[in-house]
Amino acid sequence: MAIAADEAQIEAAHEAVSRGRRIVVLTGAGISTDSGIPDFRGPNGVWTRNPAAEKSSTLQHYLADPDVRKRAWLTRLDSPMWTAEPNAGHLAILELERQGRLHALITQNIDELHQQAGNDRANVIQVHGTARWTRCWECGDRRPMRETLDRVRAGEADPSCLLCGGILKSDTISFGQALVPEVIDRAMDVSEECDVLLAVGSTLSVHPAAACVPIARAAGATVVIVNAEPTAMDHHAHHVLRSRIDEVLPTLVRIRS
Ligand code: NAD
Repeated sequence: MAIAADEAQIEAAHEAVSRGRRIVVLTGAGISTDSGIPDFRGPNGVWTRNPAAEKSSTLQHYLADPDVRKRAWLTRLDSPMWTAEPNAGHLAILELERQGRLHALITQNIDELHQQAGNDRANVIQVHGTARWTRCWECGDRRPMRETLDRVRAGEADPSCLLCGGILKSDTISFGQALVPEVIDRAMDVSEECDVLLAVGSTLSVHPAAACVPIARAAGATVVIVNAEPTAMDHHAHHVLRSRIDEVLPTLVRIRS
């Protein structure tokens, strides 16, 4: 992965972040790649390597096609998420919380590694839900994912809801599925309230989550983007670091002497 940010760029971004007292961090799949969970659109992303995989993330296909669901359950069974550990990027964000400067953490991720790192659950806004729970599409019954994965392991290829027989899916927001209004509203509100918006490991191409960036900018926040590749929101940023997250995030959050 190319590291394009030079020392002066990192130093300028560090200066900007160090002035922040109400920092909002917006994370995407890129923060978890160092924990062994592939992203979707990076060079080794799930969809970059296998464009057909996008189907199982689309609500319409998932609900209509039992074969899509069966493949999705097998993929969940094998997910690196169940053994992944938080990495230096997650810990850097935890450090911001410990410093009392983290206003909120908006994540597009569904892996709960921020909570596993130790971030206060109340501070984490999961705009795309969580893969650690299942939800019945019919009655809304919610259970830990591991209970349903045990049923798949025991031979149920497409397990249905134990209460009503409805279709089960992970409690994530699939493409084509509406977001939870109060969750996305909160993400927009905190973006308006922050003094620094730090976007990390996201192509910033999935809406409306990506809109947090222009919202923060319009409200007067300093915008810092850390991502290995160009993002759709680079033109809104004061500082763009084309860097590896584990290499620059610990520096950006350090208190300057
Ligand atoms: P994305 O896959 O579209 O983009 C990830 C970006 O991160 C890419 O530009 C990639 O170059 C960059 N990146 C990867 N590793 C990096 C590293 N170590 N350092 C710096 N940059 C790195 O991700 P997205 O914008 O979050 O959108 C994808 C959607 O799918 C989101 O909803 C996302 O949360 C979800 N998703 C989640 C997970 C997860 O929970 N871990 C994994 C895959 C996809």
